[in-house]
Amino acid sequence: MNGKLGEFEIIKTYFSPLSRSEKGAFNLTDDAAVIEIPDGFSMVVTTDTLVEGVHFLSEDLPENIAAKLLRVSLSDLAAMGSIPAYYNLSIATKSGTSSDWFKAFAEGLLADQMQFGITLIGGDTVATSGPLTLSLTAMGFVKKGNAISRGGAKSGDDIWVSGLIGDAALGLRAATGKLSFVSEKNKKYLISRYTKPVPQTLLGPKLSNHVNSAIDVSDGLIGDLDHICEVSKLGADIQIDDIPLSRVAKSVVTEKPDYIDLILSGGDDFELLFTADESFRVIAKSLTKMLDVNLTKIGAMVDRRSIEIFDKNGDKYFIQNNGYTHF
Ligand code: ADP
Ligand code: MG
Repeated sequence: MNGKLGEFEIIKTYFSPLSRSEKGAFNLTDDAAVIEIPDGFSMVVTTDTLVEGVHFLSEDLPENIAAKLLRVSLSDLAAMGSIPAYYNLSIATKSGTSSDWFKAFAEGLLADQMQFGITLIGGDTVATSGPLTLSLTAMGFVKKGNAISRGGAKSGDDIWVSGLIGDAALGLRAATGKLSFVSEKNKKYLISRYTKPVPQTLLGPKLSNHVNSAIDVSDGLIGDLDHICEVSKLGADIQIDDIPLSRVAKSVVTEKPDYIDLILSGGDDFELLFTADESFRVIAKSLTKMLDVNLTKIGAMVDRRSIEIFDKNGDKYFIQNNGYTHF
């Protein structure tokens, strides 16, 4: 039970409408959902948990918490090359959480369901004396054999990244009162990029039969590249100057060059980082046109087990500041 609002009332009022487009969810009135996997497809499944005070702040808007929760998992589905389909939601709230909170949270979920084509099919609702805790399991479909792994990179592969890198990490700093030298307008832009990252749900499935490995940039560009390197048992050369930055991020680095380290190591962009052989270069051009997405080649996979970063003079660059401690 959940304080004044009963568990069943919450499910019926706020969550059941979100399951309407899938009859196998039985309006969330049965013990579990029953889902068909289309012929020739595999199901991709991923879970993420967000905890109040750890992954979001108590004062964050419920609709923004909903968007972040869903988008983090949508990004994982994209990184595997899959098309989003369904999700389960487990929610542990303080008893007495208001109906306004649930209403705004469900509206946030609905907006993203419409934008990204995913449907709620089940979950769990409990009360807790601890922080608000949200766990979401997302399911997607990918053609059999076409899922993209982190381990498929080949030596000599180009390293590509989608979109723009670094805005989200800068946005988190802006949201927590740092970046006092940045204009209010630019801070607002950066914060929106942190609050509402746009997962590459259209790009991921299009990459699935053209690239050798992929990951989404959630922990940080270099950290996530290292995951590909580790599983693929390779290393990488990265050209700093080729990393795609927004106009605002560029202006931050021009003013305070140290912030390049945050761009290299900060997280939360939810772009796709992937590797592919040379034949992908022409495909990249047509995907950019078709999906209106930036695709930028930032380096190459190499046959040693380390990542080396080069500046515009061709000199090796070493990250001085770990984003979490220095900015
Ligand atoms: P059980 O007691 O069998 O766990 P519940 O009463 O917890 O069943 O859940 C009843 C139905 O409501 C189930 O279909 C479950 O998937 C769904 N459900 C419960 N909580 C949520 C939620 N937060 N989001 C979506 N579906 C939910
Ligand atoms: Mg239950």
